[in-house]
Amino acid sequence: MLFSYRSALRAGLVYLLASILWIQLSQQLLINFFDEPLTLSHWQVVRGYIWVSLTALVIFLLCARFARANSIQQPLQESRERLRQAAAVFDCTREGVLVTDVQGRIVHVNRAFIEITGYRREDVLGREPNMFKSGRHSASFYQHMFESLARCGEWSGEVWNRRKSGEIYPQWQTIRVIPDDLGHVTHCVAVFSDISAIKHSEHELTRLAHHDPLTGLPNRLLFTDRVEQALASAQLNKRGCGLLLLDLDHFKIINDSLGHTVGDQMLKAVGERLQSLFGHGVTLARLGGDEFAVLAENCPQVVQAAAMAQQIIDSLKEPFVFDAQQLFISASIGISLFPSDALSAEQLLRNADSALFKAKSAGREGYALYTEELTAHAQNRIEIANELRRALDQHELQVYYQPVHDLQTHHLVGVEALVRWQHPERGLVPPTDFIPIAERTGLIGDIDTWVLDQACRQMCQWLAEGKQLSFLAVNISSRLFSRHELYEQVAKVLHDTGLDPAKLELEVTESAVMDDPEGALEQLHRLRELGLRLAIDDFGTGYSSLLRLKRLPVQKLKIDQGFVAGLPWDEDDAAIARMVIALAQSMGMQVHAEGIEQAEQARFLLDHRCDLGQGYWFGRPMPATEIDWHRTPSIG
Ligand code: C2E
Ligand code: MG
Ligand code: MG
Repeated sequence: MLFSYRSALRAGLVYLLASILWIQLSQQLLINFFDEPLTLSHWQVVRGYIWVSLTALVIFLLCARFARANSIQQPLQESRERLRQAAAVFDCTREGVLVTDVQGRIVHVNRAFIEITGYRREDVLGREPNMFKSGRHSASFYQHMFESLARCGEWSGEVWNRRKSGEIYPQWQTIRVIPDDLGHVTHCVAVFSDISAIKHSEHELTRLAHHDPLTGLPNRLLFTDRVEQALASAQLNKRGCGLLLLDLDHFKIINDSLGHTVGDQMLKAVGERLQSLFGHGVTLARLGGDEFAVLAENCPQVVQAAAMAQQIIDSLKEPFVFDAQQLFISASIGISLFPSDALSAEQLLRNADSALFKAKSAGREGYALYTEELTAHAQNRIEIANELRRALDQHELQVYYQPVHDLQTHHLVGVEALVRWQHPERGLVPPTDFIPIAERTGLIGDIDTWVLDQACRQMCQWLAEGKQLSFLAVNISSRLFSRHELYEQVAKVLHDTGLDPAKLELEVTESAVMDDPEGALEQLHRLRELGLRLAIDDFGTGYSSLLRLKRLPVQKLKIDQGFVAGLPWDEDDAAIARMVIALAQSMGMQVHAEGIEQAEQARFLLDHRCDLGQGYWFGRPMPATEIDWHRTPSIG
């Protein structure tokens, strides 16, 4: 404002000086024009000055007036502009805004408020904000809010309110009191945003972190947490808990042969079926892959847990149907109990896992209870793993040979190389006790290559001695079979030993082939290129797909000894043996029966045109030097 008056004064003064200068100049100009001084009377000059001064004053006054008017107008315009902007922000903001007067009545709401709450302006104006209460908060919550407003003039926090539709939703709200110039509260402003979407994402994130996305069941993290809680509560209430660990049998075959989509459908369906078995107090979880777990919070005795396990096994007997295709699956279950077997969640899970291993080893589709011996067994496994490397270095491994006879001629035509471990303290350890451990520790590659090398050298020696042997069979572990370097290793042994590849037969178990059918096909074809023969060991135990079997470059099927044991009286075994023989013959393969312990078994197999026989009845596995080359037991 000061600046405006000064400008007016400056304008007046400038005019005054300019006019005086003009008068002076005009006098001078007139003199020059007429070449003689123009005599103006003194009075005329004074009048001119007065006139000029008065005009300057008028200019000053006019400018001052204009400046004054301007100085009043400007703040008014500015504040009007500010109000306009505030109104625009108020209306455009995505946050809901609600203004109450000093009596707590709503006097204003914005557009976002209407959108969020669903109320119209006329529904709420004049009413109090407690009309939005959800009923979720206690009286002390609101008391704390008002105290904070009274003390600091502001409150912010999460509030659950109710929309017009009745739906309860979370808001993040900031309330501020508005005082006048004298400090008296005139209004309250509440600004809030709807945070239901954030809450939902938060909830979803927590759910994802704790649940398996495929089945929607709790995952390992949540399950372990539930077990810990259940144990704490069981301890307090002197109750027992049961933990069942469940693994689907041969699930990999479904995945590999029918694809992961069907595999996923199967897992989901198994989850649903198991869930339908249990009610309150039982938690079902998917721990990963095809492993599920069940926690029974009230399971005082082993009989209850065993009954649950049986219930699960029975429930899975019903087929699963996908795209009009019936699929069957079974499960093995390990059981561990609190407090008799373990006192912590971690131990309970570990024990159930040991029991599961026992159930799997016992032939699947069954359950096993955790026992103390299982821990001893696990301990033993660890010791064997440590000693096995030393065994290789210190030449404690030996190769035994078991004769194979032609059932027609009774002649010894081949041998199977079987590894043995002459342990300094444990004595002769059978391969079933250390091969699975070697497979898990990765030592199996070294063991199998060593056996192959030893056996090929021995075979070369026998052939050089003139022994009439058509083949030497060597077992190849499924672990080694799935590795690419197998081909190079076999080629190297054949090269190093000089054995005719046609005399070598590699035995691969049926399950090794079916675990990865496509990979196996490629591996078998490569091995065949070396000129050796291939046999499928333990046939009948690995769920072979006949279609796949047909494509394999295999020359022999070995009927698993489990089916030979019941011959000739067990009708199922007899039917299976007959079927395998017929199958092999239809595919142009040789059939070889193992585990023949009695003449009747050999007779039955011969009658059904099985080609080769192996078993204690012909001869046990023995060191190379002990083989009786002339033994030709008569089948009769
Ligand atoms: P396999 O290849 O099926 O070998 C046949 C098993 O049956 C041998 O057990 C043999 O001793 C046993 N057997 C033979 N005739 C009879 C009989 O009349 N009655 C009974 N009850 N059993 C009989 P072994 O030597 O204990 O070998 C067990 C398994 O260990 C073998 O089964 C094979 O899968 C594996 N294995 C043995 N040596 C090796 C090896 O060098 N490498 C690999 N990867 N596995 C091997
Ligand atoms: Mg074998
Ligand atoms: Mg076998």
